[in-house]
Amino acid sequence: MDRNESKEHVENSCGCKKQGCSGQSAKSEGNLDGFLEDKMLDDRMRLIKHKIIVLSGKGGVGKSTVAANLAVSLALAGKKVGLLDVDIHGPSIPKMLRLDDAKPEIRKQAIGPIEKAGMKVMSIGFLLRNRDSAVIWRGPMKIGVIKQFLKDVDWGELDYLIVDSPPGTGDEPLSVCQLLENADGAVIVTTPQDVATADVRKSITFCRQLNMPVLGVVENMSGFACPKCGEVTDIFMTGGGELMANEMNIPFLGRIPIDPAIGRSCDDGTPFVYHYSRTETAKAFERVIGPILALSARDKDKQDTEKTTGGKDIMKIALPVAGGKLCMHFGHCEQFALVDADSKARKITGQEMLTPPPHEPGVLPKWLHGLGVNVIIAGGMGQRAQALFKENDIKVIVGAPAETPEKLVAAYLEGTLASGTNVCDH
Ligand code: ADP
Repeated sequence: MDRNESKEHVENSCGCKKQGCSGQSAKSEGNLDGFLEDKMLDDRMRLIKHKIIVLSGKGGVGKSTVAANLAVSLALAGKKVGLLDVDIHGPSIPKMLRLDDAKPEIRKQAIGPIEKAGMKVMSIGFLLRNRDSAVIWRGPMKIGVIKQFLKDVDWGELDYLIVDSPPGTGDEPLSVCQLLENADGAVIVTTPQDVATADVRKSITFCRQLNMPVLGVVENMSGFACPKCGEVTDIFMTGGGELMANEMNIPFLGRIPIDPAIGRSCDDGTPFVYHYSRTETAKAFERVIGPILALSARDKDKQDTEKTTGGKDIMKIALPVAGGKLCMHFGHCEQFALVDADSKARKITGQEMLTPPPHEPGVLPKWLHGLGVNVIIAGGMGQRAQALFKENDIKVIVGAPAETPEKLVAAYLEGTLASGTNVCDH
């Protein structure tokens, strides 16, 4: 079930067929204009490697602050970043980046994003004539404008697009999730107070119903960072975000304290992390972006795998096994598990156990190459053997834990295989 089909499971209160109403997908259905629009959207989005949606159960919890600082941190890490603010009711990114007077250039069939702090920025706020006046949008207009922003902004090629979504679980964040069909996932921002309410849990359930992975929860305004010494004091109850994340089985990305410097830096127009990279609060932001930066490390892994599989989705993975689990000493294992996997569907499609030929230098690389193996997951392997496999276009992962082949391959396909040190070097 894709995100557009699963819409009716989220809410189907209206039943009317108007664009933007509950019960209707944000993607077009069955007309030529709609088809062309969807194609334009897909073409734009295809140039962006990772799309991350920042969500919150309600407004005022620091969603835009987290989105802006996340985007700047990624740009400071050398990534090509876009920041899109589609928070229709409170577009705060222009103020946060001191771009109140920015006027995006209207190019042929596209809107040019504004360059700031090493990123490309676009906000619904740029298009409002009077930023202080309340905007009244009709339901269908809201969805239309969100779609237009995703489809018509000339982002070019990006490593990351961070999308500051409207809060809640209504039609607007729903449209963002549906339109960004292949987004990497959502970062959910909450506060210690918000954790006590049902709002944040609703956001998590909302993502689950839309098949949108939750990259993790950030507990913002968690404790107070002293402006003099930087020490963080828990003035209210904190830590609920982590408990809730554990309970709901999603990653906890970290706590960000209330730091007066965050508000000040917003007034300066440059997000906090740009100025205060050494403070405890900046370190907290750094921890939050760790798993998100890991997404691009996975890209490299995927490219390496594609090289060895010739770009095919089907791969054969070999694992040395002893007693049903990964054998730590590659050359001396009892058996090899040969696992067939579909890397795109992230599924194991077959498995067999084979006894290797008697151990002699150079025999195993030849044997495994002959069996069509593309990847080896090992505990330890000597440098010479690794070089031989490389020559045979077989990718080797060393330092995997002593787990069953199924578990290790599943983790490899999910991109979560923990590979430690090479435990054997002979
Ligand atoms: P949202 O997008 O959820 O509505 P904002 O990111 O606009 O919330 O934040 C609301 C206000 O709270 C802003 O003035 C922002 O500067 C401030 N703020 C957010 N996080 C923090 C923090 N950790 N410490 C201090 N002020 C913060």
